Amino acid sequence: PSQFRSVIYSSHSLEDAPSVLSVHRYTPKGDLSNLVVVRTLAFPINPSDVNQLQGVYPSKPEKTLDYGTEEPSAIAGNEGVFEVLSVPSHETSLKAGDWVIPLDANQGTWSDHRVFKNASDLIKVNGLDLYTAATIGVNGVTAYQLVHNYINWTGNNEWLIQNAGTSGVSKIVTQVAKAAGVKTLSVIRDRDNFEQVAKNLEDKFGATKVISESQNNDKVFGKQALPAILGKDARVRLALNSVGGKSSSSIARKLERDALMLTYGGMSKQPVTLPTSLHIFKGLTSKGFWVTENCRREPQTKIDAIRELIQLYKNGALVSPKDEIIATGVDPQASDSELLQAVRGGIKSPGKQVIVF
Ligand code: NDP
Repeated sequence: PSQFRSVIYSSHSLEDAPSVLSVHRYTPKGDLSNLVVVRTLAFPINPSDVNQLQGVYPSKPEKTLDYGTEEPSAIAGNEGVFEVLSVPSHETSLKAGDWVIPLDANQGTWSDHRVFKNASDLIKVNGLDLYTAATIGVNGVTAYQLVHNYINWTGNNEWLIQNAGTSGVSKIVTQVAKAAGVKTLSVIRDRDNFEQVAKNLEDKFGATKVISESQNNDKVFGKQALPAILGKDARVRLALNSVGGKSSSSIARKLERDALMLTYGGMSKQPVTLPTSLHIFKGLTSKGFWVTENCRREPQTKIDAIRELIQLYKNGALVSPKDEIIATGVDPQASDSELLQAVRGGIKSPGKQVIVF
């Protein structure tokens, strides 16, 4: 195409993030025959994308005049799956028709087309379904690294505990852990249909056992019911915290001596609280986890995680997040305001939103 169409922003708003977005058409810079040209198939709207629009995310794209805007602008979005349309003639590692995702964050994925300088700026994800491919780069890689990059699992009744067990990341964590022979104790918020949600997490997503936050916080449950759930000689070696507050202290309390808690999200907006005694007497280590920084520092770890995840997907160890996703189709012929409306609506709606072209 001679014109690309992107969802862009030049300013930020904490109160009304969708309002900073507009749709912009432009002629891409450079000789397309020397570039990898891709067509967007689908992109998710992740919490971090919205935080970028709000101006509160520590990693952000540089705003430029490259798209012919009056104000320096950036294309929104950090994740998405593209189909390769053309590659420079010397390029052998990619071909037209391949499905790819960007290696780096801040590439701007909320766009109908993009160009990349090199094939090495992209990771091939052929063989995945649309929804897995569109979300594997952030939530998939996060889950994989959380499970595998910190603990040398031995496979002898070893457990990890995590809160927000219903989240997209947590559902991949349970499957990746199961494939590695690691058991998972997933804590979810109390709800009327607890049994049904817990059963789905256990049956479909491979959680070993799901408990409620009230059980998580209950000391009697921890002393009496929990040992029976974990079984003989259980080792709870890792806690994954994406909630904070009381939930984080309660999952940390269930860890063995000298264990690790990784904090990767703060859904409750409460500070991470940890009992002092766990640090002093049980040798607890509490660390932050940020997939963006991990991948910036060591891009190969992202490539490796994707390769492993594709294998798990092909083996049937990983199910598609399709049923969990709310997809909004945008026709390539849709007007600019229809595209903008779809994206703004996605930001404002609950659940994992994916825009499909
Ligand atoms: P989802 O939208 O799939 O899940 C959100 C989860 O948060 C649900 O489990 C929901 O539980 C829970 N939740 C929502 N509000 C609260 C609350 N007030 N208190 C406790 N739990 C709550 O999100 P993702 O899987 O995409 O992301 C999960 C988290 O991980 C986010 O915080 C995200 O920013 C973070 N993240 C961090 C990364 C990193 O590198 N550090 C990378 C990727 C994600 P319920 O079912 O009860 O509503």
